[in-house]
Amino acid sequence: MILAVALAIAVAGMVLAGIVAWREHRRRVDAEENRRRVHELDRRHGDEVAESEARLRLSLDAITQGVVVADPDGTVLYRNPYARPFTEARHGEALVEAAVAELLAEAAQGKAVEREVELFGPPRRCLFISALPLRSEGRDHGSVALIDDITEPQRLDAMRRDFVANISHELRTPMGALSLLAETLAGETDPEVSSRLAGRVQAEAIRLSSTMDDLLELSRIESNQAAERTPVAIQHVIADALSRVKPAAEDRQIPVETVLPALDLVVRADRRQLTSAVFNLLDNAVKYSEAHRPVRVLARLADDRVEVEVRDHGYGIPPRHQDRIFERFYQVDRAREHTGGGVGLGLAIVRHVATNHGGEVRVESTQGQGSRFTLAVPVSEKDRVEESPDEEPGALAAPEPVGAPR
Ligand code: ADP
Repeated sequence: MILAVALAIAVAGMVLAGIVAWREHRRRVDAEENRRRVHELDRRHGDEVAESEARLRLSLDAITQGVVVADPDGTVLYRNPYARPFTEARHGEALVEAAVAELLAEAAQGKAVEREVELFGPPRRCLFISALPLRSEGRDHGSVALIDDITEPQRLDAMRRDFVANISHELRTPMGALSLLAETLAGETDPEVSSRLAGRVQAEAIRLSSTMDDLLELSRIESNQAAERTPVAIQHVIADALSRVKPAAEDRQIPVETVLPALDLVVRADRRQLTSAVFNLLDNAVKYSEAHRPVRVLARLADDRVEVEVRDHGYGIPPRHQDRIFERFYQVDRAREHTGGGVGLGLAIVRHVATNHGGEVRVESTQGQGSRFTLAVPVSEKDRVEESPDEEPGALAAPEPVGAPR
């Protein structure tokens, strides 16, 4: 009996010890599992933080704006690639680095600050630097400076202002003349004088309307750089331009000859733009020549480009003006041009059309002897069509080489 009780106690003791040991084991396993979970969460959180940091850094690396971050003491902690060249800078750029350091220090005091820094280059550049304090929930994290290159926006702004000023001037002149002529006409009783005045009113109105046409054409060409391109035979473009210039050429008694190859030269182009460019070259050749001086337009294939050459024996252009005549509103001799010229937009149109088509326009000119303008656009080999140029209006001159301007 005693033995049985002792055995039962021993068994109970063993069971209890087993339970205690199992519980201890479970506790350890649970604790281990919890540790593992916490560790896993930490690791995941760490990965996420590292990933979002990497993403943020890549974004900052990619932007075309300088970013410089400093701690509250002004020590630079981060600088994106755009902002880096300024640290190694000598000369002008060192000014930027100094300005950034000053603005970061000022921003660290809690206020947003900004400054423009001009670098005289070359090239001349203008930078806009702004700095902001980095504060969150009452804590001071330092400051950030942003560097923007505003050279191009400033240049465009200046161009826009010049453009508006030029347009206003070009429109005001004929408008003033018109109003003066109308006033004089109203008080005129002599029919002969009235008729002369009416003729001048008409001439001013035509000039005004051609200025408006040029402006609209230029703005259309500028805003239509990616216009749809279709295969266009250059011979057809020249024919269109010739028919447009014909009245002026006849009026000024300028013979216009054409030299065209038998095969169509095809380019991928906006036909309207190309016609406008060739017309402007022909119109100038006619405008800036004395009566009876011939003008010749020829088309040829030169390597992989189609060239349209317009040659005159007119006044010519002094060398110092030759680089600038393609600028908008640039005129060599305003006094002369105002008697029959345009407003200086024609060659701006030509250059725009050339660049829109991946080509170029060149000028060779000798003052007093004449000018040769060459418009070159890439040929479209795959669209080359073989057609006879029979459709061209007017007689075609026999192809012959063109020498230097007389
Ligand atoms: P415009 O409308 O005044 O003719 P353009 O832009 O067509 O303006 O030409 C700019 C200037 O270049 C003209 O004012 C003129 O002085 C000069 N020019 C252009 N083409 C010729 C040419 N074929 N012969 C002489 N001068 C020319």
